[in-house]
Amino acid sequence: MNSAAERFGSDVFNDRAMKAVLPKDVYTKLIATISEGRELDATIADQVASAMKNWAVSKGATNYTHWFQPMTGVTAEKHDGFLAPCEDGSAIMDFSGKELIKGEPDASSFPSGGLRSTFEARGYTAWDPTSYAFIKGKTLCIPTAFCAYSGEALDQKTPLLRSMDALNTQALRVLRLLGDTESKRVRSMAGAEQEYFLVDKTLYEKRPDLIYTGRTLFGNPAPKGQELDDHYFGAIRPRVRAFMEELNECLWRLGIPAKTEHNEVAPAQHELAPIYENCNVAADHNQLTMELMRTIAEKHGLVCLLHEKPFANVNGSGKHNNWSIGTDTGVNLLKPGKTPETARRFMLFLTAVLKAVDDYQDLLRISVATAGNDHRLGGNEAPPAVLSIFLGDELEAMLDDAEKGLSTHASKKSVMQLGVEALPAFKRDATDRNRTSPFAFTGNKFEFRMPGSSLSIAGPNTVLNSIVADTLRIFADELEAAEDLDGAITALIMREVKAHRRIAFNGNGYDDAWVKEATEKRGLLELKTTPDCLPLLVAEKNIAMFNRMKVFSETELVSRYRAKLEIYTKTVRIEARTMLSMARTEILPAIESAIAATVKEAKTKQAVFPEITCGYERKFAGKMSALLDAIDEAADALESAVASAEGLSEEEEAFRYRDVIIPAMDALRAKCDEAEAFMPESKTPFPTYGALLFSV
Ligand code: ADP
Ligand code: MG
Repeated sequence: MNSAAERFGSDVFNDRAMKAVLPKDVYTKLIATISEGRELDATIADQVASAMKNWAVSKGATNYTHWFQPMTGVTAEKHDGFLAPCEDGSAIMDFSGKELIKGEPDASSFPSGGLRSTFEARGYTAWDPTSYAFIKGKTLCIPTAFCAYSGEALDQKTPLLRSMDALNTQALRVLRLLGDTESKRVRSMAGAEQEYFLVDKTLYEKRPDLIYTGRTLFGNPAPKGQELDDHYFGAIRPRVRAFMEELNECLWRLGIPAKTEHNEVAPAQHELAPIYENCNVAADHNQLTMELMRTIAEKHGLVCLLHEKPFANVNGSGKHNNWSIGTDTGVNLLKPGKTPETARRFMLFLTAVLKAVDDYQDLLRISVATAGNDHRLGGNEAPPAVLSIFLGDELEAMLDDAEKGLSTHASKKSVMQLGVEALPAFKRDATDRNRTSPFAFTGNKFEFRMPGSSLSIAGPNTVLNSIVADTLRIFADELEAAEDLDGAITALIMREVKAHRRIAFNGNGYDDAWVKEATEKRGLLELKTTPDCLPLLVAEKNIAMFNRMKVFSETELVSRYRAKLEIYTKTVRIEARTMLSMARTEILPAIESAIAATVKEAKTKQAVFPEITCGYERKFAGKMSALLDAIDEAADALESAVASAEGLSEEEEAFRYRDVIIPAMDALRAKCDEAEAFMPESKTPFPTYGALLFSV
């Protein structure tokens, strides 16, 4: 297998592999499940399992695992061997359909947001045949969904699959109304651009904050930052190049279509973009990509930081989620149309997205809410914590027409009135790119730019699919009941565009004036932090919508709300504790020893030359002694702030962390960073920003 194309997908039990090893009738049934979302025919499970096992064993696998994504955002595995002993003392490699379809990891070690106390700790994993099994090391990994004994979802994938089904159902209703009798399935697709940092492993190991929290909790800015943009345009350095090459190779073998890799804005920052795939597969692949980035970096003496904000005053990392919907017949429903029919279809789907994003700003914000991402949103590097849609001049002009011209005329004529036909075939990138928008139309897809770099894209896509599905349901209900369909479509688009135009914004999203306009004039939500937005997850309208779309039951939503709250508080608590420990056991002693050394130096000098004033030593010792006390006091203050959160309810605790503990952490950091600026290099307790950012 010499060419990259031949190696692509060689570690995946994909269509090609299945076709080669499965009996024809079994293959046909399995493909029907995969491509049309039909229920799996249980009678074929044994044959699929056996063929899958033989294929895996031929590639050196000895174990299998159900691979799943609990609510923590990482992936989980529970390994079992294929080896089954026989009575005569020999052994065979065995794997049954039952083992393929269902697994039983102990659910109690994963966050359940309260589901655990209500229900049995037992959890089940269920095979997701729509995402191919793959080999990692000596293990066959089977992508699965993870749920509680009672059927409630405990993972990220189950709701995502449900939301894809909901979108399929509602979008097909609308397409049938528009005369599409061909399409059998509507799919949502995602391409996740992944940003990350690479730092030297030996330096990383000297920083407890990076080890415990994934970000630096102390550190003065380096003299040089990203102001020259020389990293972005610069050549990729050899060690990073070697890392990227090995990563690409591994991704390709796993059938993950990594396409572009380049340096990002900040020093030591990079990006990887794959080719888009069905949402659930893209979500699986992004999880695998993050995992491989971490393990492969280590092989190159590097550590991959996936945190949203590893360094203060340096751009953080996001994960742009490119999202579109299309039919199994190959039509992208978000592609502006050239004919009257396709133009009208596009307008209808565009209107649905406009309305959905406006009606559910809160849910989109919640879908990206984590303690880490709170450092990005609203900073001048990432979109504000206000949702808006960038459409570009062409689409804005189309909306202008839709608001005016669609009311009186029916179908074709009115579409021509829209000026759509007169437009040149819509050119990709015809408009300037707006990097400051949280939700930007980019030619034939929307780019949701709020997700943080470590987030699973399952959550944001679950919300996108669900809210657009429910909006299409409203449209379909109305249009199915209409006597004059063309007139009804015209009226609907006109009405909804008018009602939801406020969410469209083409200007600079980083501008403070925009946040003011958005919140004060347009009445859009600004949900700055995680504790602000999380309670809205269980707002009545959101529970009702998820229920209608059969994506989350109320119980599941409440459990997710609890789990997210708990993860937020735990994350910040670990950061606070790490700061306390570093300040007391490393920073204070280091300053103390620097002062002592200076004092000793001054004494020695004066013993020999009594007339010397020792101005520098006096100043240094004075300044640093004052900082020593200030740091000590700030540490005590942080400690009591943390203690004050004990015993509060989960909600109160989260707010206490945000309002009292995070400011106490900031205060401690400010004093420590001030001291760092004057510390002799040889006495600094851990590597500086300069070393971390410019050594790879
Ligand atoms: P851009 O230049 O706008 O960033 P790219 O073509 O480089 O566009 O794509 C960026 C990301 O968007 C890639 O991951 C790509 O696979 C994904 N993408 C492209 N088209 C679609 C689509 N129709 N649906 C979902 N994602 C898409
Ligand atoms: Mg992008």
